[in-house]
Amino acid sequence: MKYNPVVLIDMDGVIADFERGCLNKWKELYPNSPFIDIDKRTMHGITEEYALIDDSFKGMMDSIMKSPGFFENLPLMGNAERILDNLESEGCKVFICTSPPRETYNLIGKYNWVEKHFGTQWKNKIIMTRDKTLIHGDILIDDKPKITGAIEPSFTHILFDQPYNRNENKPRITQWKDWKEVIEDVLSKKYIDINDDDDDDDEYTNRMYKAFKILW
Ligand SMILES: [Mg+2]
Repeated sequence: MKYNPVVLIDMDGVIADFERGCLNKWKELYPNSPFIDIDKRTMHGITEEYALIDDSFKGMMDSIMKSPGFFENLPLMGNAERILDNLESEGCKVFICTSPPRETYNLIGKYNWVEKHFGTQWKNKIIMTRDKTLIHGDILIDDKPKITGAIEPSFTHILFDQPYNRNENKPRITQWKDWKEVIEDVLSKKYIDINDDDDDDDEYTNRMYKAFKILW
């Protein structure tokens, strides 16, 4: 990749297997209660979807997500081993962009999770925000169907495939092993002549082109 795109990567549902973590804990704590198979989930908000089965399930699922150590113990998403290093070695400037847990005692769990699975150096590349539109980047890889906030985001949203986002028509990474062609395709459409090796000023030209397009 000649151009070095800033790639923002969400944690839950993208590199951390949030769904598996919730379901495992649910089965452990409530073995006699019904559950929703991961591939049958239809809503991004898991507590809201469980509430549709029974009102009391909302609080039960909520307490799982609030439990100390929940984020720290989430499994790694399939094929995500070394994915951050791999993206960087291919020329991407990678940052983890995640919402903070509502319970501040669980904040440290996200940092510990990143350190455990990707190494200490990645703890310095975590951006925690409730509004991802405010973060500049070329690409955001996120499982949430729609990314909204205070401003129109600079990044292009690539969906990380989950059953609950399949109604969205956006570029999509179905599995981590397929990331490269999806990102390159998005970048080639976002910035014209991205692969033209003749012009050293490509990055500047493309950014200016896009800025003018937005302005005019
Ligand atoms: Mg997510």
